[in-house]
Amino acid sequence: MSEQARNRIERLVRELNEHSYNYYVKGAPTVSDEEFDRLMGELADLESGHPDLVPSDSPNRRVGSDLSGSFPTVRHDVPMLSLDNTYSEADLIEFDTRLRRDLPGEDLVYLAELKIDGVALSLTYENGLLVRGVTRGDGLQGEEITPNVRTIRSIPLRLREPVDRCEVRGEVYLTRETFNAINKEREQRENTAAGSLKLQDPRLVADRNLSFFAHGLLTPQPQHDRHSESLERLEQLGFAVNSERRHCSSTDEIVTYWRAWDRGRESLSYEIDGIVVKLDALAQQARLGATAKSPRWAFAFKFSSERVRTRLLKIALQVGRTGVVTPVAELEPVLLAGSTVSRATLHNAEELERKDIREGDTVVLEKGGDVIPKVVAVVESERPAEALPFDFTKTCPVCGSNLARDESEVAIRCVNSGCAAQLKGRNRDGYRGPRTRAGGPAR
Ligand code: NAD
Repeated sequence: MSEQARNRIERLVRELNEHSYNYYVKGAPTVSDEEFDRLMGELADLESGHPDLVPSDSPNRRVGSDLSGSFPTVRHDVPMLSLDNTYSEADLIEFDTRLRRDLPGEDLVYLAELKIDGVALSLTYENGLLVRGVTRGDGLQGEEITPNVRTIRSIPLRLREPVDRCEVRGEVYLTRETFNAINKEREQRENTAAGSLKLQDPRLVADRNLSFFAHGLLTPQPQHDRHSESLERLEQLGFAVNSERRHCSSTDEIVTYWRAWDRGRESLSYEIDGIVVKLDALAQQARLGATAKSPRWAFAFKFSSERVRTRLLKIALQVGRTGVVTPVAELEPVLLAGSTVSRATLHNAEELERKDIREGDTVVLEKGGDVIPKVVAVVESERPAEALPFDFTKTCPVCGSNLARDESEVAIRCVNSGCAAQLKGRNRDGYRGPRTRAGGPAR
């Protein structure tokens, strides 16, 4: 058993370290975040059952490093950590239960914020002036990229008050509009916020039009009791702080907020991949402290699959071997969960009509794990005036025979059993008549 666990742990560590390298250093992930997090969870479970088998290079022991070697490194005064994450309500409840156990009898108030899908940045100010911008790096030391940071217009070069010394942490991100604009002309590595921030020429960085939301303030002497007060202070100092944040005092309230943003995230002009839940009282945060990888007082509650927007260029009809016509979306190519997607299934006529998907629409694509990408929604506000409801031409695109609704009204079918598409499908698959439900040949 222990030999089996050892082998699995070794394999997972090797695989996860390879994924981290592709993700952080090459900027070209090959699996979805959800799949990566699932493997991390499996490794954490195995490691807690076999503490003697935890390897020194386990990704559960450290922050994933994006050190590139191209910039001078600077040590962080306070480590820049990752966040524990979950996709499930059960884990959220466990997090809350742990905090209530560790802080017995205390009132717990959380601040729920949006989790911006960008890259972490630390800014140091002295006498009110920006002196340094540093990436998260490996959490203990980051790369100094001050000239690049100076090009980001939402980062103040001078604070609105001459504070002696402070460090501001936040997220550099691309708006969807900017992302779409640079996506057309750049390599995958370069069209992310992380890739843009590490370009060698600050003039090129300026062209990227990066944005910044501040979400943390560190001062030599504590100046507030609550994290939410320090966010207000950041606003006074001249930073953009995301206005979408909410105090929650129960896991039910957190789940409601998370659900609302899972549905509502398409309305934002930037990508979010979940919410971040933090204990609001700084004294409670200090008492809980952190592991080598993440604070014990905060948690990322992520949305379960990656989504991107792109333009639907054309709805093509495919005729299968049973004559069922499947609408397929031909898309402007877009990167989703590590691969470029240019086609997605629209399932069937009923689904297409229900969602009112039209050629020319901007659509939202989703892919979880290694599932085929699907169109989950249409962004109606971006619909071109000339886009008309899709009309299933009454004839088969392959043989020209009539199309008919099948009995269930869900699918459209070509009525000609001699249709070339149907014959081809049958020959290719060695098809010998309809199949039973279990998948074997009908008898
Ligand atoms: P993370 O991105 O899940 O969370 C930590 C980061 O969230 C912080 O560094 C911070 O910058 C950011 N953040 C955004 N909004 C915030 C807010 N309001 N308050 C506080 N922080 C906020 O963790 P990570 O360590 O940066 O990356 C690990 C994650 O990256 C994994 O869980 C996985 O999802 C993904 N990953 C994917 C692959 C892959 O191959 N697909 C590989 C490695 C990592």
